[in-house]
Amino acid sequence: MRAVTLSALFGVSLWSAFAVCATSAAASPDPSADATFAEHVKVWTTKPEFINPLVDHLPLSTAAPSPREILGHDIGAPRVLDHYADILGYYRALAAKSGRVKIVETGQTEEGRPTVVVLISAEANMARLEENRRNLARLGDPRGLSEAQAQAIVATTKPMYLALGGLHSAETGPPEMLMELAYRLVTEDSPLIQKIRSNVIVAINPASDPDGRDRYTDWYYKNKIDDTNDLDPVPGSPYWGKYIFHDNNRDINYTGYSAQNLLKFYLEWRPPIIHDLHESVPFLYIFSGQPPQNPSLDPILFSELPWFSNFEMAKLKALGMPGVWDHGYVDAWSPGYVAFMSSNHNGLVRFYETFGNGGATTELRHVKPIDGPGQDFHAADQTRREWYRPDPPYETVEWSMRDNTNFMETGLLTALETTATFPQDIVEDFYKKSRNSVEDGRANPPFAFIIPGDQQDMTKAALVVNLLRNQGIEVGRAERQVTLKEGVFPAGSLIVKRDQPYGRLAKILLETQTFPDPKLRTYDDSAWTMGLMAHVKVIATADPTALDLPVKPVDRYVAEGRIAPEGAGAYAVLDNGSINLATLRYGLTDVAIRVVEQGFSAQGVAVPKGSFIVAGTNYARLKGAVAGLGLTVVALPSKVEVSTHPAALPRLAIYSTWGATQNVGWVRYAFDQFKAPFDLIFKDELLKGDLRRKWDVIVLPSQGRTSKAFVFDIPVRGKPLPYEKSATFKFLGDYGSSPDIRGGMGLKGLELLRQFVAEGGTLITLGDTSAVPGEFGLAPDVEVSRPSKDFYAPGPIVSAEIAAPDNPLFYGYQERTMPVRWATNALFSVAARDKRLVLMSFPGGAKGVQSGLMNGADEVKDRPAIIDEPVGEGRILMFATNPVYRWQNFGEFRMLFNALFNYPQLELGVSGSLGDRAQPSASHAVSAR
Ligand SMILES: [Zn+2]
Repeated sequence: MRAVTLSALFGVSLWSAFAVCATSAAASPDPSADATFAEHVKVWTTKPEFINPLVDHLPLSTAAPSPREILGHDIGAPRVLDHYADILGYYRALAAKSGRVKIVETGQTEEGRPTVVVLISAEANMARLEENRRNLARLGDPRGLSEAQAQAIVATTKPMYLALGGLHSAETGPPEMLMELAYRLVTEDSPLIQKIRSNVIVAINPASDPDGRDRYTDWYYKNKIDDTNDLDPVPGSPYWGKYIFHDNNRDINYTGYSAQNLLKFYLEWRPPIIHDLHESVPFLYIFSGQPPQNPSLDPILFSELPWFSNFEMAKLKALGMPGVWDHGYVDAWSPGYVAFMSSNHNGLVRFYETFGNGGATTELRHVKPIDGPGQDFHAADQTRREWYRPDPPYETVEWSMRDNTNFMETGLLTALETTATFPQDIVEDFYKKSRNSVEDGRANPPFAFIIPGDQQDMTKAALVVNLLRNQGIEVGRAERQVTLKEGVFPAGSLIVKRDQPYGRLAKILLETQTFPDPKLRTYDDSAWTMGLMAHVKVIATADPTALDLPVKPVDRYVAEGRIAPEGAGAYAVLDNGSINLATLRYGLTDVAIRVVEQGFSAQGVAVPKGSFIVAGTNYARLKGAVAGLGLTVVALPSKVEVSTHPAALPRLAIYSTWGATQNVGWVRYAFDQFKAPFDLIFKDELLKGDLRRKWDVIVLPSQGRTSKAFVFDIPVRGKPLPYEKSATFKFLGDYGSSPDIRGGMGLKGLELLRQFVAEGGTLITLGDTSAVPGEFGLAPDVEVSRPSKDFYAPGPIVSAEIAAPDNPLFYGYQERTMPVRWATNALFSVAARDKRLVLMSFPGGAKGVQSGLMNGADEVKDRPAIIDEPVGEGRILMFATNPVYRWQNFGEFRMLFNALFNYPQLELGVSGSLGDRAQPSASHAVSAR
């Protein structure tokens, strides 16, 4: 049993206990100060150097309710977290009483919670909020403004500083702290706060994942509140919001509703600064934009970042606070983090990491990592002195929610001090970055990006165009044929000109990523090139005449579909590679659909393999289901001999561990978008067995750090961890439930999966999980090894080569080589005699890297990218790629849907003997009425 100190039990440090006595003896003489608050803060702060005069007090006010009046506790109270409705309730109470507060409703979450941004400023600023909004919008799009006009607007415009809290739900402090900050900004009359109120519009997003806030708060009270062992902590809740967990800060295409709502708010209000508040790093890390930096962003941004962070470091150090540092943690390469919304749109991205305990329980934290092999740079010792960390965090520390609140609030107040001291500089910077973006597009290639209008599948082009439009990027449609240096493009081509306010963002999203230095590391993906990810042709043009092309602005782009008139005996829905074919299949579950196995020509129209054939008797159903999908349906002549097989509708289960639901969430999201039904199953359902009777296909999405973690999941230690709905905890038990989420499927589960396959089931594994069948022997002919320690591949986009082009997996793919996102650190191999099992492989080498960074690309040479191994009566299809990676690699999605609709025919087009296994496909004549 481990030792538990009294202070850990009560959330009170010995220092604080003494301090309370001292304070009581010399009571505050200021009658306008909230003495109860001051006392609480002293008690809850664990060391004297963790508090300072900026945040050790709050005024008593009759003009606005304090958090304690509404919530029943001061902020930073041990063992207390607020649910979202209570947080919102506090801001609404504040807005109801104070003319300094306005709430902007921005929409709803997936689970129906309202999303808001709270605006706080002096009454005079609030009175001209709309004018200020228009000014920022004008400066954000300065086309047509003279320099003098722009400067006149700058001089009368207040910067808006938007703070986000609680994007990551386990990082529980910011949503609490922001309520106290709001109250302080509304009620305190210190010179600093008055200056902030006068010169800045402070905007607060109270909890950036409201659904997750409630789920995590319930989890904390149910399972975590008594946990004080940071060396073996009780795990967090299996879900935050509905789908994507921690990746809500990697959601480059804004799938989450609260992110979408925030983006809409951003494009309406254009705050020059967004500051995202996270927790994980001791004691306060301030993002300063370290390398690798995205060179397409404005140099002004990279000057603003250390300007802010250095002042905050200096100020907090002057206030006596230790462990504040910048640099050395997160770089400025990927534009996919939520707060990058700001820098992507010519604003300033900021973010903090403060130290958090995953809840409000005070505990002894071991900050210095235990030395051992296998540590990567992320786990580097943050208690070590560095040039950017002159006063490092302590090796161990008693840490409380109030400590966390003090650091964050002091930092943010200091950031607001900078903003309030230089309000016009900040607004001017915002204007200049916006202006520079337009000018850069005019002066430097690429001048535009062309999305040719004659691509086989325009539905994926529509995905790309509409994602650009969501971000406020202007896209035009050429009404006539376009001739540029790079070629001739047909009428209907889409043109993204760079001489627009968000021309930089268009460049960042559409260009190929050239990593600046292979010795550098990056925090997330090194590549995201949208055209490569979506398999959409995008041409960067160095022809300046592109800027003068007449275009018609596109609001939303809809790919045109076509259906032949009624009366034919049969119809073919052409497979041009659209993912919408999946939606069509699931929209016609009771209609017999056959899949074309070899392309043919019918009355001059090429019908590619993979096309769906539907009998004319189902015309009305087909016409209804195909509407809006952008697909082409042609009539077939009365007689055509063609090999087909039924488009299968397998009974499908998607298996999820409890400890790593994030990547499963992306697959669930994609399936929901394309209206594809599935059973989401966990260990409890799996371990009931009889799998083959229940399902035809089981998909194991990428999850778990290792194969062992996938199988054994959350270790069976400590107490059971229920994730179930109850009257008290109504936000638990969503998207699966279990009386105890520990233990994983275990070896018994693996044995059941083996049986499932032996009895004819199809097991499909994605990404990292594809190492499981090889490493645990389910796929006897597949070996898995790991790359050398020099191998480093942070999500590059690489080439993959189709080995079996007639295999149904590749229906809809025209090219033998395709770009895929690198998705695992497992390297696969099969014996030479089993080469036929490899359906796709990586050519590897430096030439195989299309975008981003892969150190050690030679290690990938000729490695399998997709392996299909028949086992017993069934098969295991292993994707070393991840065909559904976030909401990004749309070009790969179809391979997974193809695997489902053609699961009994996955041996088609595979050369070489497949033993005595039957070829299930059959020739089928489409005949006339
Ligand atoms: Zn975070």
